[in-house]
Amino acid sequence: MAGIMFTISPTSIGDRSNLKISDIECHVLLAPDYDPSFTSSGQDSLVVFIHTDAGISGIGECDANPWMAKTVIEAPGTHTMGLAVKEMLIGADPFEIGDLWNKIYTGTAMNGRRGMVIHALSAIDMALWDLCGKAVGKPVHELLGGATRDRITPYASLQPAGSSFEAYRDALVKSALDAKALGFKALKSEVTMNGPYAHNGMEENYDRHTEVIAAVREAIGPDITLMVDVQYLWSDAETCLSVVKDWAEFDLFFLETPINSDNVKEMGKVSANAPMKIACGEWLATRFEFEELMDVGGVQIAQPDVGRVGGLGEAKIVCDMALERGLTIVPHCWKTGISISATAHLAFVTNHCDFIEFMPPQLCVETLRRELAKEELVLVDGQIPLPTKPGLGVELNEGVLERFKVA
Ligand SMILES: [Mg+2]
Repeated sequence: MAGIMFTISPTSIGDRSNLKISDIECHVLLAPDYDPSFTSSGQDSLVVFIHTDAGISGIGECDANPWMAKTVIEAPGTHTMGLAVKEMLIGADPFEIGDLWNKIYTGTAMNGRRGMVIHALSAIDMALWDLCGKAVGKPVHELLGGATRDRITPYASLQPAGSSFEAYRDALVKSALDAKALGFKALKSEVTMNGPYAHNGMEENYDRHTEVIAAVREAIGPDITLMVDVQYLWSDAETCLSVVKDWAEFDLFFLETPINSDNVKEMGKVSANAPMKIACGEWLATRFEFEELMDVGGVQIAQPDVGRVGGLGEAKIVCDMALERGLTIVPHCWKTGISISATAHLAFVTNHCDFIEFMPPQLCVETLRRELAKEELVLVDGQIPLPTKPGLGVELNEGVLERFKVA
């Protein structure tokens, strides 16, 4: 990597006006029917607005506990290396996104160089790109270097239901068929009936995991791309490989997070020996964690989440690192229309991004995901056409912010 703190700022901004950041608003949103035992980031959000003296504002969100992320941004500083994020931004030029990112990354070193601080910074970064796009009247993909394609392909991310093996299997088969009927060309099943993410406390054996994948593949036929997420099911490569060797026949595009992403050495053994590509990265913050995942973990597919990795600029750096190594990008995204839009703009400047994750509003129960933003990205023959509106092109539905806001 050239220059450890290489950062990315908007290009193609032409003759821009002189803007200054005047305020930052952080809203904690929570669905009234949320269930903390439910495995879904679609129930809450930290939505950030960045305002300027010219009245132009940007919007962003992150995928992390919203109360904690709000505190990261609003807490007063107490040390030269533990500064206040909000104070560092007020009065700054929003077009200097890379410099601002670097200033915050360095100035918050003692607040936490990974994890929550970077997740919160992701919402700030996302809002800055949106703001800059709106200020110059261009979509974010133009500011990221220009679209290199006019279509991207989303995959439907599908959730299980029920708490018996039969109900779980049947729910995944049904949602896979529903996604196919909606026009999706690719879909991902969670197959997690054991391990840390075990659905509804299930404890099914590995053979039954195989049975679920077989049932989904048989139902959708051979022409739909199928991915499987086992959500950190195994703690060692040997056990993992003894099971997934039998999954070659299901023609999986990838197997997601078979091993904890901190256990990069075991991940490396799986990546080198599994009969399918291994995907990982949804939890990671910064390029530095991805460097280890790629070079020691050996994954073939990197999954940066724009709302966790550090924002659009950091996600773009991870995409460039993947390109250098001949790896594929399939971003993680399980949030509202704000993050989906940011993820789509990233994909339009990333030719080695084969799919983006997409939670179909028609198939999800999360009211916040369904209702917060107007659905701008619609499927045309299973693909999403190039967005043309300024910024991220996201418009919130009237009154929704107030309805879901709890802090
Ligand atoms: Mg996952």
